[in-house]
Amino acid sequence: MTAQTTEGTTGRALRPPRAGRSNGQWAVDGREPLNPNEVWKQEDGGLNVRERIEQIYSRDGFASIPPQDLSGRFRWWGLYTQRKPGIDGGRTAQLDDTELSDEYFMLRVRLDGGALTLHQLRVLADISHDFARGTADISDRQNIQYHWIRVEDVPEIWRRLEAVGLQTTEACGDTPRVILGSPLAGIAADEILDPTPVIDEITRRFVGDPELANLPRKFKSAITGHPSLDVVHEINDISLVGVVHPELGAGYDLWVGGGLSTAPRLAERIGVFVAPDEAAEVWLGVIRIFRDYGYRRMRTKARLKFLLAEWGPAKFREVLETEYLARALPDGPPPAPASTPGDHVGIHLQKDGNHYVGAAPVVGRVSGDVLTGLADVMEAAGTDRVRLTPHQKLVVLDVPPARLDDLVTGLENLGLSVAPSPFRRHTMACTGIEFCKLAIVETKAAAGTAIAELEQRLADVTAQIDAPVTLNVNGCPNSCARIQVADIGLKGMIVTVDDVQQPGFQVHLGGGLASADRDEAGLGRTVRGLKVTAADLPDLVERLVRRWLDQRAPGETFATWAHRVDEEELR
Ligand code: SF4
Repeated sequence: MTAQTTEGTTGRALRPPRAGRSNGQWAVDGREPLNPNEVWKQEDGGLNVRERIEQIYSRDGFASIPPQDLSGRFRWWGLYTQRKPGIDGGRTAQLDDTELSDEYFMLRVRLDGGALTLHQLRVLADISHDFARGTADISDRQNIQYHWIRVEDVPEIWRRLEAVGLQTTEACGDTPRVILGSPLAGIAADEILDPTPVIDEITRRFVGDPELANLPRKFKSAITGHPSLDVVHEINDISLVGVVHPELGAGYDLWVGGGLSTAPRLAERIGVFVAPDEAAEVWLGVIRIFRDYGYRRMRTKARLKFLLAEWGPAKFREVLETEYLARALPDGPPPAPASTPGDHVGIHLQKDGNHYVGAAPVVGRVSGDVLTGLADVMEAAGTDRVRLTPHQKLVVLDVPPARLDDLVTGLENLGLSVAPSPFRRHTMACTGIEFCKLAIVETKAAAGTAIAELEQRLADVTAQIDAPVTLNVNGCPNSCARIQVADIGLKGMIVTVDDVQQPGFQVHLGGGLASADRDEAGLGRTVRGLKVTAADLPDLVERLVRRWLDQRAPGETFATWAHRVDEEELR
């Protein structure tokens, strides 16, 4: 179940940087900075801005923040300025960052492994109420994102978060970002191994480490020991996926070099077996390769996937073993096909006789009120733990059988559906134009409207939808909500209909990650000229779902059908 490397499956072949000139690889070219970002990162790293936020900017206000801190170093602490209201998407590319920026921030709280205690959840809810105008979104990287944050309030927010073991350190920036982890870590009867110790060790030792705080670009990690393959391992810079080695027992299969954005590429297996007690060291070896060999000349070619595209897995393994680990790693097996859906929605039995309950908000949008309500429902059920998922869902753990019904009723009353329609369950949306400076179109409301419409219009065929049809709505080409690996992926753009410009989407069809319904990941196809206005989105999805149901061979998934049929069938 290796992701294939042919063009059109892992993505178009990434063009390597030009030979014969410095590409800014520290280990090859030296550390001479080749672009303005690299200059300021070397002069004064992002982690250093914290003291200035605490001592100067939070006291003197937004106007006291110099541009390089504001649009650069603040990211190292999870802070981006949010989009100024009222700027339409057609102007996004015409304005610079200052013109697009409001005086408020998005603040991202990293939740490594997506894990939260009840007490931490209450703190997150209170911060939403007190400082974020009630906002809170569950991102598809298991983070919580606030909006409307004022710089004056950031020190107090940090104080509250850090008092309960939460942080915003390196939640954004050219850093080791949040580590995705199986939401079922430690509780599932069918778990291969519990990744919690590895996630905890990496977070404790390396998050905030100045040695790893100036990477060429972001570095995304994912670790699971659950056979549902529940951490989207094909699209991270590094993934460790639980496997059983015939002689060495349970451990991890190493995947490297995945990423989407405007140049999508699926990760590849390196072919090694990683023992659990070596996993943090192997992670360190991979991130140091990225730091030392990543291409720093151009930010558009700086992700690890470009290095892997040039080196290939064999060279990557050789460099890892010889230069960074000083030992060979054993060969290892690939993971088995996914056993169950990786979103964990619904009611399931834990290994200890309690239950875990997966619930779906609409496209990850919650609020301070919902978080408070969730904490109340959990407390009444006698459970202390909840986890966020990489699918913008949440899973409440440790629910005693006697409290299950009350908990489910409580979740449903909060709009957290335990038995969502297939449309709500499988739709995600990025932040979009409401707050994102890069956005061209609105996303969350459009996706919410589409879900409601499709629940009504397709009620007559819902029972026939026995495999997920994922709908991923993105506000621009950056693919934060994973356009290219959705059955129906929507890339925000302005479309012109009858000479009138309107918000709309380019359509990608038939992408997907390995899941219980699909053995192998693959990227979606685009259909020449296939675009849809936001207003016509429900029409398009209804049409495509009905055609798939009419035309499919027995058991054929939407993605297989979408790759099989002629373009005309997809319009
Ligand atoms: Fe913003 Fe684009 Fe990412 Fe959506 S995909 S959150 S619009 S950068």
